[in-house]
Amino acid sequence: MNAMHPDVETVLFSEEDIAAMVKRMGEEISRDYAGRDLVLIAVLRGAVVFMGDLMRAIDCPVAIDFMAVSSYGDGAKSSGIVRIIKDLDIDIKGRDVLIVEDILDSGLTLKYLMKNLASRKPASLEVATFLWKDVEGKQAAVNPKYVGTHCPDAFVVGYGLDYAERYRNLPYVGVLKPEVYS
Ligand code: 5GP
Repeated sequence: MNAMHPDVETVLFSEEDIAAMVKRMGEEISRDYAGRDLVLIAVLRGAVVFMGDLMRAIDCPVAIDFMAVSSYGDGAKSSGIVRIIKDLDIDIKGRDVLIVEDILDSGLTLKYLMKNLASRKPASLEVATFLWKDVEGKQAAVNPKYVGTHCPDAFVVGYGLDYAERYRNLPYVGVLKPEVYS
């Protein structure tokens, strides 16, 4: 068990919880994509940690690639209007694409990206998200095929997720103390 960072109020998902979820997702994906041509695509930068763990939990051949996008606004709330800063290096036409996401909230960013990726004619296009804020009354614009766990409607950090570019390296997912924001 890691010592808790002094800015963190509560740990929602520990390193052990995360390892178990990633292992389960890797098994599901390995089973579903056996014999297929799987390409994992992560959106920089939040999904990098999850991508690193998930790809090692998958035991069929995988290719990986990354995209970087910038959404207009302050980053905490997504507008769904996205500019591609770094595009894919590989061609996904006819391949089985799985988008690897850190956290799915409104899903607006992802919806835009999926539309863009679908136009490149992959054989299939699905989403694996580590966290899903599928709070009651809130509907995501995208339906993920693989989910690590459901997440309460709080702003969370760690395991790749940042607040002002900090806390991405925490090995767990937690909620910051309110005074950190002030
Ligand atoms: P959506 O378009 O689904 O509303 O937002 C997705 C993006 O917003 C995520 O990829 C992430 O970058 C950011 N985001 C949403 N909720 C959180 C959160 O609780 N913590 C952090 N650090 N980022 C979040």
